[in-house]
Amino acid sequence: MSAALDVRSPRPAVLDHVPLRVDRDEVLRFQGYKKGADVPDAAVRALFDEALALGESLIEPRVVYRAEPVTGQGPDLLEAGGERLNIPDIGRLWGRLEEIGAGLCTVGEALERRVRELWDERELPLAVMLDSVGSAAVESLAEYANDVLCQAALPVGVHVTNRISPGYAGWDTAEQAALFRLCPGEPIGITLNEACVMTPGKSISFLVGVGPAARVDHYFTQCRRCWMRDCAYRRAPAATTVRR
Ligand code: SF4
Repeated sequence: MSAALDVRSPRPAVLDHVPLRVDRDEVLRFQGYKKGADVPDAAVRALFDEALALGESLIEPRVVYRAEPVTGQGPDLLEAGGERLNIPDIGRLWGRLEEIGAGLCTVGEALERRVRELWDERELPLAVMLDSVGSAAVESLAEYANDVLCQAALPVGVHVTNRISPGYAGWDTAEQAALFRLCPGEPIGITLNEACVMTPGKSISFLVGVGPAARVDHYFTQCRRCWMRDCAYRRAPAATTVRR
């Protein structure tokens, strides 16, 4: 995926070889640290450094994305591609849309395999920290994808909303299946079972709204992580980035 990506294209686009940066604060958050309140000691920092280096050697970040024209919209409903997505308050939150974009992200299976091996070897602190690195990496990847979509949309006069995922903000996890019908995981090796669990486990599915009138007035978090220079639409200064 690049700035040339067509955010409205129904053809699946795959992004790989992503120069992803794993956010240290995000890893520590998965470890239970509260930003600004908890300060990790030297032993934790050393463990983090070891897990991060190991994680970065194992992750293979990949994203697949495709868009579908919206055929119906209601206060809590989006219709597209023959699917009905029941998402509380989505009409107010996203405004009028022309398309929805469905995306899937994964950092692959190798990191999870290594976590299991570390458990078997009783290397528990490193196993747990490496698992957190994987969780943070796929979160960063989803942020990265959202930023790339926004960057690609602005030059062609459309907006891409913040992403949402099944299982969050009142959106029923069972609709994960509909999201996979909109954007199959096969091009990047993600599968979904009947319980709506994705494999590899370090994967995230997401939905965005697309259109000239799509609401992006809550884009602060997104802009804070975005590396786009001189963006006329930036709503908050970049504090960090999810790109190397
Ligand atoms: S700075 Fe904000 S508005 Fe500009 S491309 Fe990045 S995420 Fe989009």
